[in-house]
Amino acid sequence: MTEVIDGEAVAVEVRSGVADCVETLTDAGVKPGLATVLMSDDPASETYVSMKQRDCEEVGIEGIHVDVDADAPAETLFETIDELNHREDVHGILVQLPVPDHVDKREVLRRIDPEKDVDGFHPENVGRLVAGNARYKPCTPHGVQKLLAAYDVETEGADAVVVGRSDIVGKPMANLLIQKAPVGNATTTVCHSRTEDLDAKLASADIVVAAAGIPEFIGGSMLKDGATVIDVGINRVDADTEKGYALVGDVDYESASEVAGAITPVPGGVGPMTRAMLLYNTVKSASERHGIDVALP
Ligand code: NAD
Repeated sequence: MTEVIDGEAVAVEVRSGVADCVETLTDAGVKPGLATVLMSDDPASETYVSMKQRDCEEVGIEGIHVDVDADAPAETLFETIDELNHREDVHGILVQLPVPDHVDKREVLRRIDPEKDVDGFHPENVGRLVAGNARYKPCTPHGVQKLLAAYDVETEGADAVVVGRSDIVGKPMANLLIQKAPVGNATTTVCHSRTEDLDAKLASADIVVAAAGIPEFIGGSMLKDGATVIDVGINRVDADTEKGYALVGDVDYESASEVAGAITPVPGGVGPMTRAMLLYNTVKSASERHGIDVALP
């Protein structure tokens, strides 16, 4: 019987734990604050940012938002980041990506104070993660780890395959899975666009994390019987719906759920966890900055 990994339910628990942390911090005189910065006219980016602001409100984190004109010079964005770096009421800074082409993304990530880099993309924080001493785990792979833990998936000694090698999902996911730490110790293979014979890699995987951005390309026939399948993909496909599209993962849910031991749906799997872990990182930052202990969920 395939177990459906309910990301929304686990995210509710994380958010509730975060709300308790916010209460502890607020009682001690510290209101955690998350600043989002948007330099884009892309409606999808606008939606992501407003969702993050709504999430903050729900758990009692102060949401601060700054819009930077998409045509403004890069320096305007850097100055905005500098200001937020210096604000006492801001504990986390998130610059919504992508930024316009005339802005150097790497410079944006470097500019954020690493102690406020709640996305975990600053080179210092990437280095710490790789060294096994993470300050902030990037939200999506961290959310996947929480799901694996919540469903008691044995990672130690397991063969894991991560499909995708992006800086925000694939690479940090693989780094977490190989670490000598809880929800780690997996023998991890990273597959990507140049991988030959993906099928052979998947056939022996006890855990599959799919993050390639290709709609439903991993089918049940490619999976090992009883595998745990974590579908990070969120892809829009044309569909006969009110909106004219539907969201699907990288995994063909129907066929995969006939073979998998446990599987995340899309939507309702990894997505809600990514959002919850951003709140987690924000309270972690506030707690560490002010030396106030909180019970992180
Ligand atoms: P990306 O485009 O940066 O990376 C995709 C990766 O897939 C690349 O490393 C590429 O080498 C690999 N790839 C491409 N074709 C492949 C193939 N045929 N076989 C194996 N690997 C292949 O994407 P990303 O930012 O890592 O996101 C991946 C997916 O996850 C997207 O659908 C994105 O929308 C989704 N996503 C979801 C969340 C969430 O919260 N659920 C968060 C981030 C990204």
